[in-house]
Amino acid sequence: MQVKEWIKNAIKSEENEKYLENGRDFINEDALHKALHENISPSDQEIRRIIAKAKSIKALNIDETAKLLHVNNQNLWNEIFTAALEIKRKVYDNRIVFFAPLYCSNLCVNNCAYCGFRSENKEEKRRILTIPEVKTETRHVLNNGHKRMIMVYGEHPQSDVNYMIETIKAVYSVEEKTPKSGRPTSIRRVNVNAAPLSIGDFKKLKECGIGTYQVFQETYHKETYRKVHPQNTLKGDYNWRLYSLHRAQEAGIDDVAIGALFGLYDWRFEVLGLVAHAANLEKHFGVGPHTVSVPRLTPAIGSQLSTQSKYIVNDNDFKKLVAVLRLALPYPGLIITAREQPAIKREVIKLGCTQTDASTKIGIGAYQECVDNDTKKSEQFTIGDPRSLDDIIKEVAEMGMISSFCTAGYRCGRTGEKIMGMLKHCVEGKFCKLNAVLTYREYLDDYASPETKAIGEKLIEKEIGEIKSQHYFMKNNGKIFNDFMRNYEQIKGGARDIYI
Ligand code: SF4
Repeated sequence: MQVKEWIKNAIKSEENEKYLENGRDFINEDALHKALHENISPSDQEIRRIIAKAKSIKALNIDETAKLLHVNNQNLWNEIFTAALEIKRKVYDNRIVFFAPLYCSNLCVNNCAYCGFRSENKEEKRRILTIPEVKTETRHVLNNGHKRMIMVYGEHPQSDVNYMIETIKAVYSVEEKTPKSGRPTSIRRVNVNAAPLSIGDFKKLKECGIGTYQVFQETYHKETYRKVHPQNTLKGDYNWRLYSLHRAQEAGIDDVAIGALFGLYDWRFEVLGLVAHAANLEKHFGVGPHTVSVPRLTPAIGSQLSTQSKYIVNDNDFKKLVAVLRLALPYPGLIITAREQPAIKREVIKLGCTQTDASTKIGIGAYQECVDNDTKKSEQFTIGDPRSLDDIIKEVAEMGMISSFCTAGYRCGRTGEKIMGMLKHCVEGKFCKLNAVLTYREYLDDYASPETKAIGEKLIEKEIGEIKSQHYFMKNNGKIFNDFMRNYEQIKGGARDIYI
């Protein structure tokens, strides 16, 4: 099919209609601006009431979130930061989940002003991975120790839903031997970051066994959206993107993920946009987003905006927005990406982030190639944290947190409304802890460097002690604890991929 013809048929606006209210989408800019304007000087008492509400694991409304965004007192910010970590521990315990991105193609029909893949960027070296190349990339990712992957595609007829399905199947088909123990391993969960699809295409994607489908609105501010996404492109259609997760839900993909690219417009407005997005998904499907991502604009080849935007978010404000999101949306996972430098990543992990990528390569084919100038020219943006998975796992352990490769929730059917219910009642976090320990054991035996293993052994001992001391695990004559320990011993003895 010709590219022009494909573009003409891609958007099916009628699929959004049922979600509009009086013909309008749910981002009511006047209301969001009003909330920001009217809540500009909250009292300390109001802020403390809102913090207490968030700590009881209740989502905040737009006005409450706007009040937090306007706190102007460092002591109160410190209370917000402390509350953010407390909330994360209640809902997810002290674990960080790791994943690796796999960029499959940089062909794109869009022309987003901040992106190295944009069609008018003549410096970009275009490439789409073949199936054998996808398998080779997967082997490299597995050899780094990963079990979860997020596959990323530009929007183009050559990387349409059929290509996505073929490449996802290719990833799942790869079996590799672990470097230290020689045990078979494979990717256990594939998530997808791709352009908006129709309900029919989402159904096809669902059938091939994906975990979460992720699409970021980039900016919720409509005028900015128009400026950075030219109107004659597919991505220029604000509502096609805004309702993509509604269509995905309708197609049966019940784990969906939102995000904003911070730096395109006022960060406070974008936070309210994310909160409004989560609320609207919850309203229609009884479940909000599975995760929220907070990428910040970083330099991209051929994009002036990526370095000169007047809305670039500094580190201080970035910490604030992460903490406020943790309070406003206590249940979704919060993802900090390798766009960030190690130092700030460390800080925001302490503010309630639950997931991050590591040993990240974002050039097309970059895991299998040494990164030369040509591979660099196929990157969408610049990453700030190129460290290996092992280095980051060691650092996280030094911070007293356990790394997790758990994929149990998804494979046990704890997805969508079910997992959200468990997160809201702080039950899922208990399973997170158990499965984090089980997958950490695998990592230590199969991949860890001697230094990481040394600190990891101490951490795992402490985690098992904590599990043993918790009433929840010791009920019914310690049934959960005993089941867990049986699994743990089996893994120590060489069994793999056992979970609770
Ligand atoms: S941001 Fe996405 S849609 Fe826009 S040019 Fe880049 S790859 Fe294409």
